[in-house]
Amino acid sequence: MKPTPPLEAAAKGYRIPGTEIYIDPLEPVACAIISHAHGDHASEGHETVYCSEGTAALIKSRFKYPAKKIITPAFGEEFVVKGISFSLHPAGHMLGSSQIRWKLNGRSHLYTGDYKREKDLSCEPFEISPCDVLITEVTFGQLNKVHPPAAEIIAGLEKYGDTNLMIGAYNLGKSQRLTRLINDYAPSFRVMVHAKMVPYHHIYEKMGFNLGKWEPYKREQFKHSKHIVYLVPPPSLYNFRPGKHFLRAMATGWDEQHLRYDFPLPVSDHADWPSLIQTVLESGAEEVYTIHGNGTALQAAPELKDKQIYIL
Ligand SMILES: [Zn+2]
Repeated sequence: MKPTPPLEAAAKGYRIPGTEIYIDPLEPVACAIISHAHGDHASEGHETVYCSEGTAALIKSRFKYPAKKIITPAFGEEFVVKGISFSLHPAGHMLGSSQIRWKLNGRSHLYTGDYKREKDLSCEPFEISPCDVLITEVTFGQLNKVHPPAAEIIAGLEKYGDTNLMIGAYNLGKSQRLTRLINDYAPSFRVMVHAKMVPYHHIYEKMGFNLGKWEPYKREQFKHSKHIVYLVPPPSLYNFRPGKHFLRAMATGWDEQHLRYDFPLPVSDHADWPSLIQTVLESGAEEVYTIHGNGTALQAAPELKDKQIYIL
């Protein structure tokens, strides 16, 4: 018999059944726990929000009215909401990104939110947290889908050194990670960033993450010099007409998107197939629920045949 799911759909996010505690709601609620500051997980207008310090800094910058009250427990610190004990644990997805853990009816639950396990010096590293019930994202839950090491992909940019590059990246998260990666693995490039990314770069640095050298975009220099990577929001990349003096690429884990541009740049901030399997096994959970993606491949994975896996 199928057990009662640990979360139910509500307020365009999730609610813990029998409570008024919402996780990543996209509509205003009295009590929200927010995993990270991306627009498909964070929203504004709440009464009380619980989130990490990094997420709080980002949602305050993103939204005019994030919440009446924002409470920022440290990673690993226990906090009690309406009688339930919670804690946040780093998810390695972007600055402040958190897995949310709670204890209910004698069982520990873990909601991963978006996560990745690959090294990323622009945010807190992923931590595994043992639990009885795991709720995992499966954005890339396709059998054997592997994200190549980002360090190698970025080091490969050096071969385009006699031109400029325009790289599409989300303003928040991906562009800060790329800034740091290019500094570390393709250091002959100057990094210029789109104006919309600049406030987030500053917040990352204020929170103690060194992104390396970068500067706001300077049009004339991009036109007349070489060895520049210009990071732009994805819509700008698509709308920019290909120029003679630069090549375009989109930093994403979705293979089909690369076909639109001059070369592929498969850098993802989500768990790939081996990471998903590893996380389910290391969590020790017997009961697993998938969200954000298609969980059918995971349900059929031979490595997980002893687990009960459900699609939420
Ligand atoms: Zn995200």
